[in-house]
This record gives sequence, C-alpha cells and structure tokens, in this order.
Amino acid sequence: MSSKGIAIVTGAAQGIGKGIALRLASDGFDIAVNDIPTNADKLTALVEEIKAKEREASAHVADVSVEEQVKNMMEEVVKIYGGVDVMVANAGVMKYASIAHTSVGDWDRVMAINARGTFLCFKYAGMQMISQGRGGRIIGACSVGGKKGGQMTSAYCASKFAIRGLTQSAASEYGRHGITVNSYAPGTTDTEMVTYMDKSHAELTGSAPGTFKKLLEKAMPLPMIATPDDIAGLVSFIASKESQFITGQSISINGGMYFD
Ligand code: NAD
Repeated sequence: MSSKGIAIVTGAAQGIGKGIALRLASDGFDIAVNDIPTNADKLTALVEEIKAKEREASAHVADVSVEEQVKNMMEEVVKIYGGVDVMVANAGVMKYASIAHTSVGDWDRVMAINARGTFLCFKYAGMQMISQGRGGRIIGACSVGGKKGGQMTSAYCASKFAIRGLTQSAASEYGRHGITVNSYAPGTTDTEMVTYMDKSHAELTGSAPGTFKKLLEKAMPLPMIATPDDIAGLVSFIASKESQFITGQSISINGGMYFD
C-alpha cells in the first residue's frame, strides 16, 4: 500500500495512543511516535510493531509540555518524512484527588501536560501544515471529563475543558487552510490511567481493587469499558479523507456515560 501520509501520535508508548498508532499504521500512514524518556523502550518496541505492518516508523522522545521539545520533534519528523499530515495530541495525565487534596503542583502538572502540551502540538502542527499547503488533520484527546466535571478530577476536567476550547479555536483559525481540528472524548477506557484511578479509589475508600471499574461499568447504558481499539476506530475516521466536513468537534465515545 502506498503511504497515506505521515501521522504523529504523542503519548504513544501505551494505552490509547499505542492503539491509535497501530490503527493508523494499518490504515496506511507512516507513524512518528512520541513519549517521555521513561517509556523510551516501549516506544522502540512499538516502532518495530509498526514496521512489521510495512510502514515507516520512528520514535521521538519528548515532553509535550516543553515548547522547545515539541518544536524539535516537529523538525525531526519533517526532516525524516518531508512533512506531516496528521497530528494526534494524545498524551495526557490524571490526578485523582479531591480539590482539597490537589496541590498547586498537581494542578500545574496536569494543566502543563494536558492543556499546554496539546496547545503546543496544535501550534507546531498547524504552522507546519499551513506552510505545506496540503491541508491536514489535527486531533486532540478530550474526555467525558471535558464535557462534564466530576468528583476527584478537578484539574483533569479543567484541562480537558481547555482542550475542547482549543479545538474549537484552532478549527476556526485553520479551516481555511483545509485543516480540520477535532478531538475524541472517551469515557472509561481500559488503560493504565483507569487502573491508577481504580487503585486511588480503593486506597481512599478501603474497597477492593477493581471496585471502581465495576461501578463505572454498571452505571452506563452500555455496561462495558472501552478498549484502546474502540477509541482508535474513531480516530481512524477523524484522520481519514471521509471526515472532511467535520471540524471543531469533541466527539463523544463513552458508552452513553454522558449525552451531548
Ligand atoms: P496512559 O496513562 O495509559 O497513557 C498516557 C501516555 O502519555 C503514557 O504513555 C505517558 O507516558 C504519556 N505521557 C505522559 N506525559 C507525557 C508528556 N509530558 N509528554 C509525552 N508523553 C507523555 O493513558 P490513556 O488512558 O492511554 O490516555 C491517553 C489519552 O486519552 C489521555 O489524554 C487521556 O486523558 C485520554 N483519555 C483517557 C480515558 C481513559 O479512560 N483511559 C478517558 C478519556 C480520555
């Protein structure tokens, strides 16, 4: 299959990001994967998995909250592949704590990675795509927490509301360049992030590990937890040519946890 273009996926070493990277590779994109230094080995293994699908792939270790590192990553990708067609700003972190137990440090870390990190990816991908003049797809990771606030997740929800606002603003600016900007807004998806929430909930309430996941599962119209592949299927569509008339949206994929 000839290449459909080059896609960057941040926070791709595990979870939803890894699922998206593998799915976009199956769709025919060459893939530049990003994560932080502690996950560099997993990134290297993922590059091999993508290459086994007969696509080009490269690993780019960078912290998305640091402007210089995002700028350098974009330059590295353009040097290797000659451009960028899809940016998936997936990297994100969660702090599970009440407002009283959320420190300024916790708040700043969540906002820096989730909100500033996504802004920087949207900024440098947009600049590159505009200079190329061939349109593109910019995609962010919102959440059900970007539609509705919830207990124990104040910093996280605030950061995801920021991503929804950023998605709308970037769509407004970039549309005339043929660039669409959308976000996926998952509900509970089976990754290390939800395992961390489950563990934190068990510690705070004295309940058995697994209780939080079961509670969430039972509370939903579709009583299940998503897999990263479920989310990757939506991203595959947003990244495709067929989605050309969709922009500025944060698309819910949440088992009915929240109705827009
Ligand atoms: P995860 O914790 O399994 O993976 C997140 C990845 O991001 C990790 O590999 C981590 O190392 C990387 N990362 C963290 N900080 C980074 C930084 N500064 N620079 C680059 N990479 C960094 O989580 P996940 O569940 O796969 O989440 C992926 C995205 O989906 C996140 O933005 C998350 O908020 C969002 N999301 C997840 C769920 C869910 O239920 N799992 C629901 C809604 C939204």
